[in-house]
Amino acid sequence: MAEIRLEALAHSYLDKPSKAHDYAIRAMTHTWEQGGAYALLGPSGCGKSTLLNIISGLLQPSEGKVKFNDKDVTGLQPDERNIAQVFQFPVVYDSMTVFDNLAFPLRNLKYPKAKIDKKVNEIADVLELRDVLHRRANNLTADEKQKVSMGRGLVRDDVSAILFDEPLTVIDPHLKWKLRRKLKQIHEKFNITMVYVTHDQLEASTFADKIALMYQGQIVQFGTPQELFEQPAHTFVGYFIGSPGMNIIEVAIEQYNAVFDDVVIPLNAALIDDGVTISNNIKIGIRPEFVEVVDAASADSYLCDVVDVENLGTYKILTVVLGRQQIKVRISEDQSVPIDKAYITFPEKYLKLYIDEYLVKENIA
Ligand code: ADP
Ligand code: MG
Repeated sequence: MAEIRLEALAHSYLDKPSKAHDYAIRAMTHTWEQGGAYALLGPSGCGKSTLLNIISGLLQPSEGKVKFNDKDVTGLQPDERNIAQVFQFPVVYDSMTVFDNLAFPLRNLKYPKAKIDKKVNEIADVLELRDVLHRRANNLTADEKQKVSMGRGLVRDDVSAILFDEPLTVIDPHLKWKLRRKLKQIHEKFNITMVYVTHDQLEASTFADKIALMYQGQIVQFGTPQELFEQPAHTFVGYFIGSPGMNIIEVAIEQYNAVFDDVVIPLNAALIDDGVTISNNIKIGIRPEFVEVVDAASADSYLCDVVDVENLGTYKILTVVLGRQQIKVRISEDQSVPIDKAYITFPEKYLKLYIDEYLVKENIA
């Protein structure tokens, strides 16, 4: 069991990296606490597998350190790190039975036979592999093989951490949901640090207590699913989380207002200090869920054109145009849909300001 700490870690697959884009992992310092259930979430190519392989020791980082419970393990081989890793595609010994596949890591550790039997049966129960325990792995379906592969990661209770790299990719959607719940149960039972890589926000938020959202080789936010939704720390978090993602609009700041096209939106004064005018990359963001449609004009409402309504069952997504900007608005199914024109408001609490893509926090001083 271990806390995993990454210190000033960076990795490039190139011999002579020079610019930020040459790095698959850009300088990061990050701690995965002992016993946490974490998701590492991000789009394809953002560096998730690279980071996982550095933690497990399959890959040596170009810069920085990996520490387990304060011990520097950067130079250690994978088998010296006591980590279990489950990959996207099953890794099983086809000629062995399911039982022998699951027992293999334990026999290597010279566990006594009775203990091996007990652990293998326990994991086979959890993963519902009991019926196939004595079948040879090459006779299994893709789903079953991946379950065996996961079982080989889960069977040891002495590991420092278990790393999952998109393990449910080949699994049937119905079973996916079930297996994710099982993983969560295993996590609760054994209190092992787990890092679960996925590009699917739903998968991340159903498995993890905390999500690390990765973008271009960096963790741009580490927080609960609710924090990522309500307080996106970076415009990419706003865009990537949510369906549809956050409305993000480039603006200029004039006094305490955000201005785009001919639209002037007053901002919370606590967000503005003298630093704001320095950047020419200023954006405001508000989630479709937090834009309000009101019945009549008011001091803080904006008149827009309604250009599209998408009915998604339990809710609707309106597309409106304000200035030259398209804005998505989520309304409930029983809310009446305005025709042609709508008045919308941007509740101050939910209107976020981003400078150079990062969230500006309220200045409470
Ligand atoms: P993810 O798992 O998030 O999809 P990866 O860690 O696989 O991302 O890849 C991150 C970046 O590093 C990508 O730009 C990818 O093309 C590059 N990359 C991954 N593996 C290698 C490799 N073995 N050699 C060179 N570049 C690689
Ligand atoms: Mg990957």
